[in-house]
Amino acid sequence: MPMAKQEAAPDAVARAVEALTDALGSDAVLTARGDLDEFRDPFWVLGSADHDVSAAVLPGSVAEIQAVVRIANEHRVPLWTVSTGRNYGYGGAAPRVPGSILVNLSRMNRVLEINSELGYAVVEPGVRWFDLCAALEEAGGDWWTSIPDLGWGSVVGNSLEYGRGHTRFGSHAANICGMEVVLPSGELMRTGMGAMSGNRAWHAYPFSYGPSVDGLFMQSSLGIVTQIGWRLMPRPEKYASCWLHFDGDEIIAPVIDAMRQLMLDETINNYPFLGRGVAANAEGQPDLDPDSQKWALRFALYGYAEVVEAKWRIVERVLGSVPGVTIGRKVYDGTDRVGPDRGIHDDRVQAGIPGMELLDLYKVPFGPDTGHLDFSPVGPLVGSEVLKMVRMVRGMYEEFGEPYAAGLMLLPNSIIVVSVMFFDPKDEAKTRAIYDNYDPMLAVMAKEGYGLYRTNIYKMDAVAETFDFNGHALRRFLETLKDAIDPNGVLQPGKQGIWPKVMREWRDS
Ligand SMILES: Cc1cc2nc3c(=O)[nH]c(=O)nc-3n(C[C@H](O)[C@H](O)[C@H](O)COP(=O)(O)OP(=O)(O)OC[C@H]3O[C@@H](n4cnc5c(N)ncnc54)[C@H](O)[C@@H]3O)c2cc1C
Repeated sequence: MPMAKQEAAPDAVARAVEALTDALGSDAVLTARGDLDEFRDPFWVLGSADHDVSAAVLPGSVAEIQAVVRIANEHRVPLWTVSTGRNYGYGGAAPRVPGSILVNLSRMNRVLEINSELGYAVVEPGVRWFDLCAALEEAGGDWWTSIPDLGWGSVVGNSLEYGRGHTRFGSHAANICGMEVVLPSGELMRTGMGAMSGNRAWHAYPFSYGPSVDGLFMQSSLGIVTQIGWRLMPRPEKYASCWLHFDGDEIIAPVIDAMRQLMLDETINNYPFLGRGVAANAEGQPDLDPDSQKWALRFALYGYAEVVEAKWRIVERVLGSVPGVTIGRKVYDGTDRVGPDRGIHDDRVQAGIPGMELLDLYKVPFGPDTGHLDFSPVGPLVGSEVLKMVRMVRGMYEEFGEPYAAGLMLLPNSIIVVSVMFFDPKDEAKTRAIYDNYDPMLAVMAKEGYGLYRTNIYKMDAVAETFDFNGHALRRFLETLKDAIDPNGVLQPGKQGIWPKVMREWRDS
């Protein structure tokens, strides 16, 4: 049974808050309920205090983060780190352990470097997509960044969560090249080549001497990341924003097989998105029609004019020959970066131009408070198998009486079959029922060999339970590491189902 009543010990938290205020100043520590409400999960029961933080601390430097970690260890209080706390759909800024102290890094928002020879930026955790894009434009616009659908989150927070973007460099975790991390002991460490003082290739060469540990800090409770190197994309001469439309689920299989061919041979080298039920219409206006049988695939081509033209001819030959599809494109100059009035959302996001319009679209079902829960199993990019996954998930939505809205994210040989349930967080019973739907879906998909790539704070243990090879050998390994480097269990306990020894009985079972 979930142990929802457990929370961080209030006395210890009160002592820690006093010490934090002494160390960082009262401006950097929030305790008033009104100030803390913004860190609630907007997609949970409206007004619920179930996963409230007890305080928030806003360090402005690495030294202040180290002080926060030291104080947490002294008082044995759990911390929950966010970069900008916009992790909507996965808990927002709310912690796994109620009563944790939130470490909000939004004040550390400097773009530390843009290297326009080697194509990387170095950013602090509070740098938002909006900020990085503005800095790149200011630096001359020769480099683009990959972005997710919403521009208000952070490069660091999104990438550490294995977030997805929609340009050539849309596998965000893979774009990280060299990290700086505060460990649970308070010690500062640099990964990769950064382990050598003054190394000249820290953000250019991705590996370490010896084991590479960057992955240990992704979806992780093993450290607080204080800066990362981030790969950029050279501005292409031409960019084609392309689409493919079809009606009915059957055509998914041949479309996916054709896309796999075009992605593996790098004719298409961005990360395409196949959606149904939720889309911006041709005028860029929100359009949500869950009863529609229409599917829309977006993808992009980048490069010199001749290359983009030649790639389009190949796309026409391969995708255009799939019966029942229509395809089209709009071609832009790489320098054509005029902002929100440029094309529709799909045109902008595949060119790394950030915006917030998709959040408005997601408010269509129940107004401004609309909540949604994403369910996101990963599968191989094989047409018959993707169709099977869609039918399985859609069948369960029908069983629950929920409309099926989907957004499938394609990688060259795998796919994340995301679907979305919308609800009104003012309706407590309905909200809880939506979250309850998740468990049977999880069980059915895991039985067929499909695991989730990401989940929200309420389902972290449940999803971790499905990764069960050899009696959860991977989880045991990670918890052995956790205990060794965080014996007091202060950093993000319970994150992704990894519990420190001192709190292991908190695991939902
Ligand atoms: C309409 C809509 C569209 C969306 N589209 C996308 C999309 O296209 N792609 C996508 O990936 N997501 C998408 N999302 C999900 C989410 O909004 C984004 O991923 C968002 O960028 C994450 O917010 P953030 O950067 O503020 O993360 P944060 O809330 O700052 O961080 C997320 C988590 O990462 C960890 N973390 C953060 N910072 C650190 C640190 N410095 N050190 C250690 N751990 C840390 C923590 O566990 C934290 O809870 C969408 C959501 C909505 C509602």
